[in-house]
Amino acid sequence: MQQDEQKPLVKCRFCGSEKVGFTSTPCKDYISEDSFDLLECKNCQCLFTHSSHPDRDKNYYGVDYYNSEAGKFSTIIERLFRFNHIKNAKFLKKNFLAEQILEVGCGRGYILKELRRLGADVYCLESAGAADWILNNNEIKVYTINEEGEPDWPFEPDFFQLIIFWHVLEHLPDPIESIKQATRCLNSGGTLCISVPNASSLQARLNLPTWFHLDVPRHLYHFSRQGLISLLKQNNYQIIAVRAGDRLQNLFGWMQSIANLFTPKSTNAFFRLLQGGKPLNSVNKQALLVQILTIWLWVPLGLLGFFIEEISKNYGTITIYAKKRESISSIRY
Ligand SMILES: [Zn+2]
Repeated sequence: MQQDEQKPLVKCRFCGSEKVGFTSTPCKDYISEDSFDLLECKNCQCLFTHSSHPDRDKNYYGVDYYNSEAGKFSTIIERLFRFNHIKNAKFLKKNFLAEQILEVGCGRGYILKELRRLGADVYCLESAGAADWILNNNEIKVYTINEEGEPDWPFEPDFFQLIIFWHVLEHLPDPIESIKQATRCLNSGGTLCISVPNASSLQARLNLPTWFHLDVPRHLYHFSRQGLISLLKQNNYQIIAVRAGDRLQNLFGWMQSIANLFTPKSTNAFFRLLQGGKPLNSVNKQALLVQILTIWLWVPLGLLGFFIEEISKNYGTITIYAKKRESISSIRY
């Protein structure tokens, strides 16, 4: 990464502030080991992954990210992951009256399958380039969009009563356009549910270059709580609630980020142990050994961080529920 190259002058895409600059330390992708700079907005605290990598078409996903069709993790962790998603689906069904539900990027489809079991009519929108096992889901109506130059999402206006972005918005090339498309497809009074890592959380700010939920370059945008709320308000939404995201992810975010401080050049080794399979095969063995040997230190420190986070309500991942306003004229300026 060329630290001395001329820094471009940019505006924050979310709040328009010109107080945007590079963070002090570049961040490394734990899979490819490529480095990336982060741009930070001093006003809304959102961060942006900046790549000067010459190979712009490089695929940073693949087997080390998804592991396999059966899941991202080894059996026990995957079951826990699925259990949490089922719990999330039950919460959504109980709290929001929705018949037609869209999830943007549904992965293994745990949330939608449960919502379907509870009686909803479920749809998923995926990138046309997604893996076949994602696109050919027998239980969910999967629609595709070509990320480059596609005009509108393939749904009628006002069709859905609930649209979910579950740890997806940060991956999308143009989140503002995606929110605008969601707004077009959501009926008035309908709910948008967005879950993202929180770049303004304590766990993010203390460990930024090695923060587990940073996940550069797959995460292109790193939303702060304030930045995401501001973006939704600009797009005609009323914030209903901001809740802790998945607490398992919040806790693990603390633990793995602290463990990474012991192996800053090779991060997330313990996470790869939990993934098993191909990711474990390609882990840096020395880093894994160091993270296992220091477990007695980072587990209690991670727990302490988690409890501080719970008390301060500044969660490592957040879920925002927002209601589409009835009409533009109802907005008060
Ligand atoms: Zn900003």
